[in-house]
Amino acid sequence: MIVEQIWTGNAYRNFNYLVACPETGEALAIDPLDHEKCLHAAAENGWTITQVLNTHEHGDHIGGNSKVIAATGARLLAHQNASNSIPDMDVGLFAGDVVKVGKTVELLVLDTPGHTMSHICLLAQTDEPGLFSGDTLFNAGAGNCHNGGHPIELYETFASQLSKLADNTKIYPGHDYITNNLEFTLAREADNSRAKSLLAEIKDQDPAAALVSTIGLEREINTFFRLQNPTVIATLKAEFPDMPDDPVPQMVFLKLRELRNTW
Ligand SMILES: [Zn+2]
Ligand SMILES: [Zn+2]
Repeated sequence: MIVEQIWTGNAYRNFNYLVACPETGEALAIDPLDHEKCLHAAAENGWTITQVLNTHEHGDHIGGNSKVIAATGARLLAHQNASNSIPDMDVGLFAGDVVKVGKTVELLVLDTPGHTMSHICLLAQTDEPGLFSGDTLFNAGAGNCHNGGHPIELYETFASQLSKLADNTKIYPGHDYITNNLEFTLAREADNSRAKSLLAEIKDQDPAAALVSTIGLEREINTFFRLQNPTVIATLKAEFPDMPDDPVPQMVFLKLRELRNTW
């Protein structure tokens, strides 16, 4: 599997992706908002975009579909429940479906509600594991729930799916928010030395050559994976004195999500 992470450079800081089969040169475009950059990258590599996939229905993910499809004739895939919100969808995906790209790439569809209720992530299992996480999981953060989502569902997605992924799973998120998110992690957990050193490492990075993190690294630096960390709980208790000493992980997640909304 070849993954090309495309930095749009737009105000929303979107990442788009091309996932290509090295044998056939067929490619899947994920959320190709910057259609020009995506088409250009495919042409430069000699790839043919045969499929477009949207992780969810927001405009900054579907806005490039029609241009890419007009140029390539690709078919459009998205969550089965997104057909009313994503124009011209060809294939509705269910949890457990496998999206094939060429001969060598297979991507497992995960149904991951929370940011919106028709959000999918793709898990590459064929060679090294990788997760295309859309706006569900970001580097050092989690998606918001303001536009059609639900924080309890997002917690469930983290608890029952994302936290079970192998440590070496690479993370390919829908946006570059790593600096803000690491600063949030450090506001919740000032003694997180890994988050501190990572922030120093990436602060001046070029998003066009961004660090690709892993689930193992996220467990260390993403506060939404650190729900039982004593410092995270103690810092939250200072702001929410009614919280029990030993809160259930869901409560910690919901409080963190709430704080991140206004942070
Ligand atoms: Zn979104
Ligand atoms: Zn987005």
